Amino acid sequence: MKTIKHLIGDQETIGSTGRSQPVFNPATGEQIAEVVLGAAAEIDAAVRAAKQAFESWSDTPPTKRARVMFALREVMNRRRDEIAKTISLEHGKTHDDALGEVTRALEVVEYASGIAAHLQGDFSRDVGPGIDSFAERQPLGVVAGITPFNFPSMVPLWMIPMALACGNTFVLKPSERDPSSANLIFDLFREAGLPDGVLNIVHGGKAAVDAVLDHQEIQAVSFVGSTPIAEYVYTRGCASGKRVQALGGAKNHMIIMPDADLTQAVDALMGAGFGSAGERCMAISVAVPIGEETADRLVEKLAPQVAALKIGPASDPQSEMGPIITNEAKQRISDCIAAGEKEGAKVVVDGRGLKLQGYEDGFWLGGTLLDNVTADMSVYKTEIFGPVLSVLRAKDYAEAVKLINTHEYGNGTAIFTRDGDAARDFAKRIKVGMVGVNVPIPVPVATHSFGGWKRSSFGAHGIYGPEAVHFYTRLKTVTSRWPTGIRSGAQFTFPSMD
Ligand code: NAD
Repeated sequence: MKTIKHLIGDQETIGSTGRSQPVFNPATGEQIAEVVLGAAAEIDAAVRAAKQAFESWSDTPPTKRARVMFALREVMNRRRDEIAKTISLEHGKTHDDALGEVTRALEVVEYASGIAAHLQGDFSRDVGPGIDSFAERQPLGVVAGITPFNFPSMVPLWMIPMALACGNTFVLKPSERDPSSANLIFDLFREAGLPDGVLNIVHGGKAAVDAVLDHQEIQAVSFVGSTPIAEYVYTRGCASGKRVQALGGAKNHMIIMPDADLTQAVDALMGAGFGSAGERCMAISVAVPIGEETADRLVEKLAPQVAALKIGPASDPQSEMGPIITNEAKQRISDCIAAGEKEGAKVVVDGRGLKLQGYEDGFWLGGTLLDNVTADMSVYKTEIFGPVLSVLRAKDYAEAVKLINTHEYGNGTAIFTRDGDAARDFAKRIKVGMVGVNVPIPVPVATHSFGGWKRSSFGAHGIYGPEAVHFYTRLKTVTSRWPTGIRSGAQFTFPSMD
């Protein structure tokens, strides 16, 4: 059986904890590997390797660091299929969906390739007599990333290219549920010419995360995962003096106005609700039709399509949706549906109990459509993170906006309408970080930055794009006087131009 090991400096190692956990193919339910679980000693070894590499990497001109990103782009494009297959094998998402993940990761690599321009500083001549000022952004040192299972390639690559291009060195603690993608990323960077120690991978769970949070040599932590862990990471990381950005969970609503193109809205809900089995932080999990008439038409159109979803393994090109990541997750999602039913939601399409011939031991669930969901139900309040779409009927637009604005999460949202006034008002008033107008999954492109509001994100910065340049660097402003001949005598008042 394959053992997935830590990658520290130029070494593959099993570490010293003696602990490991199984890795499954969720389509078959079979164990395909084991991953070693590191703790403080492994994190410390990775930090030492990263610290040693920092001096020369941060001294490398940005244009030369960028060349590694250009090379990485070529390597990733060439090995695109292999990256997608590695994602699908342990995650379960369809091959095309995994390829989409790779494409979005590549966008970040491309943005990082322009780092010399993004790091360009400011210069002001003659701020005083013979005095000039310049501002620059310098790297932080060793930084770390902690990532979730649902984008095992893209989310690490939201962080690593930007952190490295800015001149930092990196320790990644990937999800223990689909860890092979992280080791493949390491391999891709090596092929692209990244020097030893600049990127290190330590596998593990809570013990490894705690070691990251407490390590005094780690300057900053980027976390993406569920809200309770994001809050924990933010609090503990900040308490030990780190800069922390921690992106959490979501409950994303899509408003369907009475004037919306219903076919377009239903297509959007199908893809955004059930793509990747709903295991996306930007998945739409609540449809909010405005008015009973819109709601009736919507449910009537949605139900047969949810029932007809093509569910199957990534190896089948016809599959629209793969399995759930683990058996426990499958059980938890089934329990959420049962709770919703008990609280009064109408189960229009029930995905529980799905069996797939030849894949009887896989972690399968069909698509589920719940109607008449109300704001007080647990199925509405909690993030289900599975192929479950709730329909919450709002009497008017104002009620829908209030609903979204009072929800604890604020990651993504969308409105489908032909009314520009409503769309403009929505974009301005809604208390959510990423907003779509007739776009169901408004994940910003790499030239912008990604980030939710409210309890979907802790910390001041979004991830990737311009926000990442700020997160992974600190500002230095130099004020200098030349020529040396200017003399004004000792000045005891606060320096100013007066
Ligand atoms: P998770 O919170 O269980 O795990 C994320 C990371 O935290 C993993 O590396 C895991 O090892 C670690 N972790 C888990 N339990 C821990 C604990 N008790 N103490 C310390 N570390 C711990 O999340 P997941 O199930 O892997 O991913 C799904 C979640 O991630 C969903 O909530 C989803 O919305 C969220 N997510 C958010 C974004 C975003 O950008 N906001 C993107 C992707 C996923």
